[in-house]
Amino acid sequence: MLDKKSFQHSSTLFLEEGDTATVVTTQRGPEFLHYLVPKGGVTLGAIVNVPVKSKIVLGVVWSNGQSLKTSYKKKRISKVLDLPSLKIEVRNFLQKSSEYYLFPLNTALRLCLNPNLNLEKSYSKYIYQIGPEKVVRLTSQRKRVLDVLSSIRDEPIDKLELKTESNVSDSVIRDLEKKRLLTKTLVPIKYNFATVQVTFSTTLSKFQKKISNELRSKVKSKSYSTTMLKGVTGSGKTEVYMDAIAEAILLGQQVLVVFPEISLSTTFVERLRKRFKSGFAEWHSSISKKEKKRILNSVLDGSLKLVFGARSAVFLPFHNLGLVIVDEEHDSSYKQEEGIRYHGRDMAVLKGFYSQATVILVSATPSLETWVNVLERKYEGKSLPERFGNASLPKISLVDLRTSDRERNRWISKEIVEKISSKIKKKQQSLLFLNRRGYTPVLVCESCFQMLKCYNCDAKLVEHKLFSALLCHLCGARYQSPKICPSCRNECSYIPIGPGIEKIEEETRSLFPDARIELLSSDHYRSLEHLKECFRRITCGEIDIIIGTQLISKGHNFPFLSFVGVIDVDLALKGDDIRAGENTFQLLRQVIGRAGRFEISGEACIQTYFPEDPVMKTLCSDDDEEFMTSQKNLRENARVPPFGRMVALVVSSSTHEAAMNFAKDLTKEILPLQKYDVEIYGPADARISKIRKKYRVRILLKAPKTVSIQPLLKNILEKKKPPRAIYLTIDVDPINFY
Ligand SMILES: [Zn+2]
Ligand SMILES: [Zn+2]
Repeated sequence: MLDKKSFQHSSTLFLEEGDTATVVTTQRGPEFLHYLVPKGGVTLGAIVNVPVKSKIVLGVVWSNGQSLKTSYKKKRISKVLDLPSLKIEVRNFLQKSSEYYLFPLNTALRLCLNPNLNLEKSYSKYIYQIGPEKVVRLTSQRKRVLDVLSSIRDEPIDKLELKTESNVSDSVIRDLEKKRLLTKTLVPIKYNFATVQVTFSTTLSKFQKKISNELRSKVKSKSYSTTMLKGVTGSGKTEVYMDAIAEAILLGQQVLVVFPEISLSTTFVERLRKRFKSGFAEWHSSISKKEKKRILNSVLDGSLKLVFGARSAVFLPFHNLGLVIVDEEHDSSYKQEEGIRYHGRDMAVLKGFYSQATVILVSATPSLETWVNVLERKYEGKSLPERFGNASLPKISLVDLRTSDRERNRWISKEIVEKISSKIKKKQQSLLFLNRRGYTPVLVCESCFQMLKCYNCDAKLVEHKLFSALLCHLCGARYQSPKICPSCRNECSYIPIGPGIEKIEEETRSLFPDARIELLSSDHYRSLEHLKECFRRITCGEIDIIIGTQLISKGHNFPFLSFVGVIDVDLALKGDDIRAGENTFQLLRQVIGRAGRFEISGEACIQTYFPEDPVMKTLCSDDDEEFMTSQKNLRENARVPPFGRMVALVVSSSTHEAAMNFAKDLTKEILPLQKYDVEIYGPADARISKIRKKYRVRILLKAPKTVSIQPLLKNILEKKKPPRAIYLTIDVDPINFY
């Protein structure tokens, strides 16, 4: 993915009035537009407003357009915004990512600059207070405004907040102002973040200190490198990379830390606060617009030194990025699967490359891609083998479900029940893991044996007791259990197949009626606050048995947890996805790693129908080298990533015929690529052939790594645009094959 050709390296180019500037806007449409430079000139990278048709839109001066011969009369840049220019490394990064993932450059710039935020700083704003005049009689609207003002006392409030809080229009506030029932005062806006307090860890072991020093000298070198930092849960890897963060900040550089699921990183925030006190910001979809504007401004001018966020943070326009850290780098949720498709980890490496920054990929179970890059010496590998403190790795045993002793329709084996009982006696916690939401994952008609499916999607319905409904996990539709089977039209009932997490909870409560039990799945927490409260109860030892989906697998310390029981993972293991084995291994390692991280040593028990599977064998040993080698060979033989390039094209439409016809036409255009050794599969119905009432047809392209397939494909796709009501999704390096 990394190559330097075709990018500019100078960042000081200045265009004079009357020159032609090539501008990339944040609007859909052509990627490059040309404008005349206004009075005062403009630097490359300047953030500007330009006219497009009848609108004024946000854009960036990308390059000089001097070599351009055009006959049309060019319009002028309407305004050069009072903001720092977008650095050359940011522009190069955006351009490369758009070329690699085949999304428009405008889209990349939109993700970078968030044009709806109105970025230009306003240095002051009006705040409102109750005025000197006495209240006589008031309309209900006016009363609401004054009530809001008196309830907040001396808290400053601006017009927008006042309007929203009291639910009135501008004119109500203007009237009150005229009557001097309220007054406004101009106050300056504070944009800056506090300074980060730089400290280095004083508790590292000799070995950890050695790795910390190596990472710090990489940061000091101010050049690009990527290092895989491997360490089991509790090995102190966060402490080690925080030293690298401190070093970068000491050098005046900016730092970006990305996480797979930011809402769950509360433990990390606490650790950051403990180490750096303040001066860092969080970036993800649920922070307010106001805070986003503040962060973007401070990232652009370089004053904000430390940002941690979700994968979208890789698009932020840093001024002086020196260090990028990707925590849990193997996590598949780094792959963006909605809207434009990209991989957050790979983008972070690209970002580091263009910024000449140090990149650290952190994981207990590195992805195969990263592992191969270390083998090929593109990345450096460092391991932290020991666990921090006295805790040792959990001891793991397998329960063969084919021969285990269980009552009918029970899912928790005798072995697990015994372990939990003994842990409760010792006042320690147990965790039961099953990555399946709901009560029953599959319902089958007792007369025709057909699965109950969603009307909108090609997906089975899952019974949820919590919602007293059947849910489609793809589109979210809810159904009541039908009286008449949609397949055979008989009046019948349904046979439940397998357990979901709610069923395990029911079984656990009947087995341990006196235990304190907490169920954690995305359906069961109402808000982030509620979730934090659950984690607090667990951390304080107020819970005996935790039952959870993969929600509990990362980021939290459970000091009392000493036993993990895995109910079933075989569905995930036996999928025909090439990553199924690797992903199951990573997930289980992570879940099992929850146990025994502190003074208590941990134990784990995995129930499985396939005890001889390599994944199970690897989990029971300490050595993952052999397993990773077998996974590598598997992918190498199939010539799939990282040993070949894949691009999936998914055509969807409300009729199957329309989707298939366009996919066939498109395939005809792609066929000539076979001369570059590109293999073309399909068009064929996708594995999930319908989602949200849209039929889906897939084409899969497989190319040798030596072929640069994206520009070839871009040419074709530009000529063959999908007609109305037909949608084309382009997924480069797909990880889902449904
Ligand atoms: Zn039926
Ligand atoms: Zn559905």
